[in-house]
Amino acid sequence: MLNYKLDVISKILNGKLNGDADLVINSVTIDSRLANASKNHLFFALIGERHNGHQFIGDLYSKGIRAFVISHAKNQHQQYPDASFIAVDNTLKALQQFAAYHRSQLNYTIIGVTGSNGKTIVKEWLAQLLSFDRKVVRSPKSYNSQVGVALSVLGIDTNADIGILEAGISRPNEMANLEPIVKPQIGIFTNLGAAHQENFDDLYSKAKEKMHLFKNCDTLIYSADYPQIDELAHELKNKHAIKLFTWSKNKGATLQLQKVDKDSTSATLHVLYKGKEIRITIPFTDNASIENAMHCITTLIHLGHTNEQITSLMARLQPVAMRLEIKEAINGCTLINDSYNSDLGSLSIALDLLAQQRQHKKRMLIISDILQSGLEPGILYSKVATMIDEKGVDKTIGIGNEIIKYSQYFKNNTEFYLNNQEFLHAFTRQEYKDTAILLKGSRTFQFERISAVLEHKLHRTLLEIDLNALVHNLNYFRGLLKPNVKIMVMVKAFSYGSGSHEIANLLQFHRVDYLGVAFIDEGIALREAGITLPIVVLNPEFGSYDLMIEYNLEPEIFSFSSLNNFTNVLSKHGVTNYPIHLKIDTGMHRLGFTPNDTPKLCSQLDSLTSIRVESIFSHLVATDDSQHDKFTLEQVNRFETASLQIAKALGYKPMLHILNSAGIERFSQYQFDAVRLGIGLYGISSVHQKYLENVSTLKTFVAQLHEIDAGETVGYNRMGIVKQPSIIATIPIGYADGLNRRLSNGKGNVMVKGKLAPIIGNISMDTCMIDVTSIPLVNEGDEVIIFGNKPSVIEIAKTLETIPYEVLTSISRRVKRIYIQE
Ligand SMILES: *Cc1c(COP(=O)(O)O)cnc(C)c1O
Repeated sequence: MLNYKLDVISKILNGKLNGDADLVINSVTIDSRLANASKNHLFFALIGERHNGHQFIGDLYSKGIRAFVISHAKNQHQQYPDASFIAVDNTLKALQQFAAYHRSQLNYTIIGVTGSNGKTIVKEWLAQLLSFDRKVVRSPKSYNSQVGVALSVLGIDTNADIGILEAGISRPNEMANLEPIVKPQIGIFTNLGAAHQENFDDLYSKAKEKMHLFKNCDTLIYSADYPQIDELAHELKNKHAIKLFTWSKNKGATLQLQKVDKDSTSATLHVLYKGKEIRITIPFTDNASIENAMHCITTLIHLGHTNEQITSLMARLQPVAMRLEIKEAINGCTLINDSYNSDLGSLSIALDLLAQQRQHKKRMLIISDILQSGLEPGILYSKVATMIDEKGVDKTIGIGNEIIKYSQYFKNNTEFYLNNQEFLHAFTRQEYKDTAILLKGSRTFQFERISAVLEHKLHRTLLEIDLNALVHNLNYFRGLLKPNVKIMVMVKAFSYGSGSHEIANLLQFHRVDYLGVAFIDEGIALREAGITLPIVVLNPEFGSYDLMIEYNLEPEIFSFSSLNNFTNVLSKHGVTNYPIHLKIDTGMHRLGFTPNDTPKLCSQLDSLTSIRVESIFSHLVATDDSQHDKFTLEQVNRFETASLQIAKALGYKPMLHILNSAGIERFSQYQFDAVRLGIGLYGISSVHQKYLENVSTLKTFVAQLHEIDAGETVGYNRMGIVKQPSIIATIPIGYADGLNRRLSNGKGNVMVKGKLAPIIGNISMDTCMIDVTSIPLVNEGDEVIIFGNKPSVIEIAKTLETIPYEVLTSISRRVKRIYIQE
């Protein structure tokens, strides 16, 4: 726990303190969404590209925070008499400075981990391995960013034997800020891959940036099989006398991985160290796990563990559950399942996700004892209770013989049980209604038995939506925007097939500026799910204008009749200054005022007080196709001319916007005041596909296997003729689920066990058959990927001679959506 007086912190930050010098601070936060907070919290008001923590000071003050680090430029201490303010030049730098100072006070060894992939797994595995004889502390989940690393260091226990911290970067010059905060004695560079390559010239310059983390370490651990890492490590060694402790599949490194034997559930690594072979079996078989395991083995050897200890520890490695799953549950509830090795950091992340579930009025946490936190139980559960209170949980159910001892710490509505059985015995379905429920259990508590009673156990076809990928894509597009350009995200058509409030909640949490829907019912559904962002309705029907006002939705006005109708309804309600969005038709010829309408429009707008033109916009017809670039520029031109005239007539400046996803990527000079992001968010680009992550994976499973003879046929109308004895798998997905029937008869392929299997015969309404003859060991129950990373939606669209938009939006509503977050 932190323990600094405010005046000490102010000195560390070179700040100017106004307020209570003796106030003791024991935790820091940057989160403006806390429901309640103690006065010993210090809030850092960070200024991001599109987020400004200073806006939330009043709100946080009302929730109980009394200490703030703010920017000189925004000093507002007069407004809040009993709050204390430290004013600094740059609040992010100040947070990092505080973390670096706090780091210098920690007197245990720190292992710093960076690399393109595997950081979190290596960190978690090392924590599993090392905690058998040491007290290990570590950064939560993948808290590895500019802010995350600082918060990790300020959040970890000051009393431990070893600490493991992860650091990640996405652009040049970032590691220099993180190095003094992590200051590792032991460094691990996991590997080098394509992640975040868009901001770097080449792999070498990215490796060089990452290598900055290790410039003051004693020992650097890495695989010499990455030539760029190896070269840079030797440079570092020559300059700073760092010891290199390496492994490789070839000779020349400290450890040599000579051979790997795999069976179906484990891999045995033959490792040569100082002329002796050690055989280490791990309960994983994939290559990424083997690489991660080698980093761990190398570290264990470096730390002086015996071969016997290493083989016994490595055999017991546990998988790291990285993802949280959000699913529909009984009686209209939403269930978030988090079986991540529980610790305070990951609890905090999961509680944030719970808080985002605005579609429910109530939030519930079911939590087990937290094992291996390294904290005294009294301190641990008082921290847990505070966190639950701060994140606005309405009801807490604690399960376990430790947490129950500290039940008095928990406020509000609580229930405690000694174990699972007791809880399940008392469980009644009716008590769980319209609630968001977070299930957070340490592995040994077997919370899967609780999730089984809460979930709709429907083993069927699923569309899995990766929320991390969605946020990655959002941030990629945000990164292309000039400062102060706003972002409207299109969530029409069930967010391009991926969900309604589930997606909007996340976008609201990440503070996009606007949402766009096609029809009013989509907007109403979002409002009813608690979405408070401004929402633009692109196709408002005349009859729906009363509802538009009732639900605070903002219509696109595209014709004189829509303008007249809407202003009449506004007058009837006595409303003035209602936000509307004027659409100009610059060449699509779908909806909109034509440039010729401008003079008449200007004169009508001049006298209207019922409306305020929030924005003027148009839609480009071919931003993804360079052969029409000339026309695109012509459209922009027509738009600019018309909108400037309108703005002049209005006497104020509405927002102007014209770019869709492909436009953002290809025509950055025409961002005007805002952009409208659609398909790119969902992982599809016609320009830089490699910078986006796949969001949607359509999955099903093998329901039945048939071995059939040559000459037999499969499916309706005998279209699938087999020429050889074949193994045919039936999968429960058909054209009624959105699997286009034109993918029948070998046109489409699906993925089974990492291999492509052709669809055989005609696709039926609810099922289809695939030929798995050439894929070894397919079993009933095996997972089948219809689309995802491979085959991709883009490939399927090509086969069908259509666009990815159609493939994504065709997935029928009967296909359950589940949402995952790391
Ligand atoms: C759908 C839509 C967008 C988003 O288009 P993408 O190509 O998906 O980025 C933008 N503007 C309007 C008016 C739209 O209807």
